[in-house]
Amino acid sequence: MKIRSKLAWTYIILLVIGIITISTYSILTIRSFLLDEGAEQFERDALSLALAASSFNEDAQFDQKIQRQAELSQYEIAVYDKDGIRFLQFPEEEFEGEAPYVEASLMAELERQDGEPIVINSDSTQKLIAYVDLGQSENAAQYLRISQDKSEYYAAVASIRHIIYAGMFFSIGAVIIVSFLFARYMASPILQLNAAALDIARGNFDRKIDLKRNDEFGTLADSLNHMAETLRADNEELKKLNEKQSQFFADITHEVRNPLHTIAGALEMLEIEKLQPEKKKQYMNTAQKQIKRVARLFEDIKTLQRYDFDESFLNRQNIDLKSLVDEAQNVFQPIAEKKGLELETNNVSSCIVNADPDKIEQVLDNLISNAIKYTPEGRIEVGLEKKEEVVEVYVQDTGPGIGKEHLDRLFDRFYRTDKARSRDKGGTGLGLSVVKGILNAHQSEIKVESEVGQGSRFYFTLPLVD
Ligand code: ADP
Repeated sequence: MKIRSKLAWTYIILLVIGIITISTYSILTIRSFLLDEGAEQFERDALSLALAASSFNEDAQFDQKIQRQAELSQYEIAVYDKDGIRFLQFPEEEFEGEAPYVEASLMAELERQDGEPIVINSDSTQKLIAYVDLGQSENAAQYLRISQDKSEYYAAVASIRHIIYAGMFFSIGAVIIVSFLFARYMASPILQLNAAALDIARGNFDRKIDLKRNDEFGTLADSLNHMAETLRADNEELKKLNEKQSQFFADITHEVRNPLHTIAGALEMLEIEKLQPEKKKQYMNTAQKQIKRVARLFEDIKTLQRYDFDESFLNRQNIDLKSLVDEAQNVFQPIAEKKGLELETNNVSSCIVNADPDKIEQVLDNLISNAIKYTPEGRIEVGLEKKEEVVEVYVQDTGPGIGKEHLDRLFDRFYRTDKARSRDKGGTGLGLSVVKGILNAHQSEIKVESEVGQGSRFYFTLPLVD
């Protein structure tokens, strides 16, 4: 059974039970009210009839007078003598099958009542019966009995009952219609939400649920929309990651294939027996250079993988950046000089930051070695600039600069502005990605300003420790 029908039938059953209970209760209450009212009137009538009966003279018209009383009052009237024997009754047929006397016990009780009537609500005969002791009477009558069918009192209920039944059936009809409409109203968002959830489960994350309701269904719809949005974002992220990963492996394959080809070629040449010693040395050098390049490539990949999957790889401590810069200058000075370049540092006081010294050293190494690698002539400056609460670290060169079109992707893995030149210079295409990874882990960001033909300036900031 569908939830809509279940809801509808639940409302209908509950409301029908409610309506029937209220109607039945109303009818019973009205019946008992009418009977109570009637009984009071009946008792009063019994007294006045008794009074009248006791005042009639013992003459030939006594019977007619009693009969007249019975006709006028619409009650059944019976008259008993002092022994309790019935000697008059109207209408006669109403008393057939009844004992023609008053029980001795009842007589005794009537005597005790001292003229007050005894009213009997008889369930067996469905009648109200009143007995009155007439006391001192002008005639032979001692006891008077009047009675009436209880149905007389319920006559009013019958017409009321019809009104109640009509109202009841009308209400039940209305309840059925309203229940189905209400159940549909309640169930329709469930159906909509279900369809949307199935859609989302099938991967349709663009699905929007527009319920326009301020109740719990509206809240649920908002949550589902939010979930779909999160899933869509995650899915896109996953797709991008997947594409990146595939691209990464394709790049690695490509990067490894080239040096392997070169090494294979060099080895082939080395097999030639009569190869001149200088040539032999040259091929050996080539092979060694390529082997070093592959080794460096895997070293970089290993570092990058660690940054991707292990965020706790940093070993932070308070370090003085000035000493790192000075150390880098000592290492790279001879290499720069060999290429005819000037390598200078700006003279700054100490700058204490909280960072991983080895990783920041690697950042400086990569940036400085790039600057040396790509700058044919001129100077390179490595420096620190204090700016309020941070220190900016920069590596600036007078090299060829980098075109604007490359800046967006410069820090992507294996991205090079000039592939041939980079490989030629032993580059792996991963140096700047490693820089980016390390600085990201330090909640910092590598930036570049570059002008083609003017040079480049790579820089990043780190918060100073007081
Ligand atoms: P590579 O191993 O090729 O040097 P990097 O990730 O270190 O890889 O650098 C990516 C590319 O950015 C380089 O191939 C080069 O084209 C460009 N590049 C990096 N540093 C400089 C620089 N100082 N001047 C000009 N170009 C640079």
